[in-house]
Amino acid sequence: MPTENNQVYCGTCRKRVSYHFVPVDHKREFVRSVITVGLWLPIWLAMSLTKTKHCDTCSNPIIE
Ligand SMILES: [Zn+2]
Repeated sequence: MPTENNQVYCGTCRKRVSYHFVPVDHKREFVRSVITVGLWLPIWLAMSLTKTKHCDTCSNPIIE
């Protein structure tokens, strides 16, 4: 049963949402880093070091 405690604010949905954890797909993040000319690298690094929450509504990673 969802409670207030497992909800976080999603900047994409602009509301509080429930979330799930997704293991980092390094192949996908590598492609993202290439596409963004390295701009994605710090986010990839942060995702690798911490478990990233993913929005249940839009599936985007939630950066706190
Ligand atoms: Zn969202």
